[in-house]
Amino acid sequence: MNPVLDDISHRRYNPLRGNWILVSPHRTKRPWQGQEEGPSKNTLPEYDPKCYLCPRNKRSGGAQNPDYQETYIFVNDFSAVKEDQVDYETETTATADKSSLLMRAEGVKGKCFVVCFSPAHNKTLADMSIKEISLVVETWKNLYKDVQQNTPFRYIQIFENKGESMGCSNPHAHCQAWTTSHLPEEPAAELKNMIEYRKKNNSCLLCDYLALELEKKERIIAENDGWLAVCPWWAFWPFETLVISKKCIKNILEIEGERDVDLFAEIISTITIKYDNLFETKFPYSMGIHQAPLRGTDEEHAANHVHFHFLPPLLRSATVKKFQVGYELLAEPQRDITPEQAARRLQALSTELYRNKLEGSA
Ligand SMILES: [Zn+2]
Ligand SMILES: [Zn+2]
Ligand SMILES: [Zn+2]
Repeated sequence: MNPVLDDISHRRYNPLRGNWILVSPHRTKRPWQGQEEGPSKNTLPEYDPKCYLCPRNKRSGGAQNPDYQETYIFVNDFSAVKEDQVDYETETTATADKSSLLMRAEGVKGKCFVVCFSPAHNKTLADMSIKEISLVVETWKNLYKDVQQNTPFRYIQIFENKGESMGCSNPHAHCQAWTTSHLPEEPAAELKNMIEYRKKNNSCLLCDYLALELEKKERIIAENDGWLAVCPWWAFWPFETLVISKKCIKNILEIEGERDVDLFAEIISTITIKYDNLFETKFPYSMGIHQAPLRGTDEEHAANHVHFHFLPPLLRSATVKKFQVGYELLAEPQRDITPEQAARRLQALSTELYRNKLEGSA
């Protein structure tokens, strides 16, 4: 990186999303407020009779969870989209009236799933073994295959919302998977840029970016034979991570064989442990996998490259959070610490979970 950028306010371009981020590194020279709290321990029980995700418990929709032993998947009792409803689309004709131009709508059908990572109420991904996380990966793969074969839907967004500050009130580790008849905004914007990049350069955007990051070694957080995790050049959230498959695979079904699944599980484990170690807390984030649509054109398939994003809100400690307000909502996203500074801090952290050391010494 040009050292000038360490000192001056500047904008960085996100070629994946197609937007700019304002970076203000000089502001980090303001007095640093260190961590105010001691390390948080795991005080949750392994089983909570009031939790709607724990084995054997009743959910608010009335269904009862089985006595599951590994991962457990079910259709969300309060899905955001419905599978069966009437079709709807605003008519747009050549002689369209203003309301069909300015007040458009289209119906969305879909199905939402919940995946409990494990029966344990008190285990997050950071607490789980590689083998346990591999079972989650297998569940994601099976779900992708199932909805591709058995539903008409276009896209599946797998995502995890973790922590109360992300609006997730239940600490029982789980993710969601929403399948929809449309391609949602974020993956659609990325896909459009990946297709354009491929046309212009005759190569894959993320393959090229991966090669650059491996060459420059300035933003790497973790790496194994299958995956590279970086704080991307264009990161918006202070400790944002982009995890890129080293092979140019298009969807998670192409993560074949036990070793490749384990490598996927391992990079998830490494990142979530480092995150928890950063402020010695259960680090909140939103995480999501981006991949090829369930149904798409050959061009859409070819331009894709499996990757996932961790978007965590914490800034300086377990309680000091970055807010997206003011200038960021009304003008442009902005950050203070540079992605290079964030990557160095995360890279230096241990891959042994701090809680385990606390419990060991107790
Ligand atoms: Zn639970
Ligand atoms: Zn690629
Ligand atoms: Zn993405």
